[in-house]
Amino acid sequence: CQIDYQAPADLLAGRVILVTGAGDGIGRAAALAYARHGATVILLGRTIAKLEKVYDEIEAAGGPQPAIFPLNFEGATLKDYQDMAETLDKEFGRLDGLLHNAGLLGRLTPFEQYNPELWEQVMQVNFNGPIWMTQALLPLLKASQDASVIFTSSSVGRKGRAYWGAYAVSKFATEGFVEVLAEEVEHLGSLRVNSLNPGATRTQMRKTAYPAENPDTLRTPNEIIPTYLWLMGPESRGHNGERFDAQPPRT
Ligand code: NDP
Repeated sequence: CQIDYQAPADLLAGRVILVTGAGDGIGRAAALAYARHGATVILLGRTIAKLEKVYDEIEAAGGPQPAIFPLNFEGATLKDYQDMAETLDKEFGRLDGLLHNAGLLGRLTPFEQYNPELWEQVMQVNFNGPIWMTQALLPLLKASQDASVIFTSSSVGRKGRAYWGAYAVSKFATEGFVEVLAEEVEHLGSLRVNSLNPGATRTQMRKTAYPAENPDTLRTPNEIIPTYLWLMGPESRGHNGERFDAQPPRT
């Protein structure tokens, strides 16, 4: 956990970083912070109006001109990921960072009643979509001199909990996949793949999962961003296949 990390202003200068789910919540805060620290950010998400707002905020703050990439993991196909890789290759020729942040909660419900279509949908958005997108982007990540791939996990991706269904399983799958891919790229030395658990954070998803909780007791997305900066920046070089937390566990 690097919650006290103070990122230098030019931490990500010259880097091209893709953030999924960049229109809201933690992804929005991460995209803004990456741009503030010098990165050209590619804003990926499904609600274009939200991405445009983030785009405008980055421009207004004088950050490097970002790019918007509309994509819905629910309907996206392998061809969409290939086309995306081609577009990014033409535009940038490489990718220095990839934050897999987009996520779907599904429903907290006993497994006995879990709707199979919803289960598939959650696995698609939280796991299958992101890994096939990663496969398509690997050549661009390998073209970078120092690339960081971050997958977003959750405490229920490390210890299962009743009623969390596909969401928990998708995060376990994510943690396992990170270990597999990390070993495969270890020899490159220039590409690292890690997982990051944000911990309880004041967003719409958290509110949906815990409707009775007072949001004021939670850290905001901005407060947990230091770890997102550290893990994306050069100071985390050498860490590969590890699990990180963005904040200390709550007591
Ligand atoms: P939010 O619901 O606030 O944001 C999720 C983002 O993902 C939104 O921008 C959303 O887009 C996008 N998204 C959802 N479905 C899709 C899709 N089908 N295709 C493309 N984009 C999609 O959630 P958080 O910011 O809280 O969560 C961010 C990540 O952190 C998730 O992976 C979540 O599992 C994880 N996490 C969060 C915790 C918390 O306490 N908040 C705790 C542990 C883990 P749109 O805005 O259009 O809906």
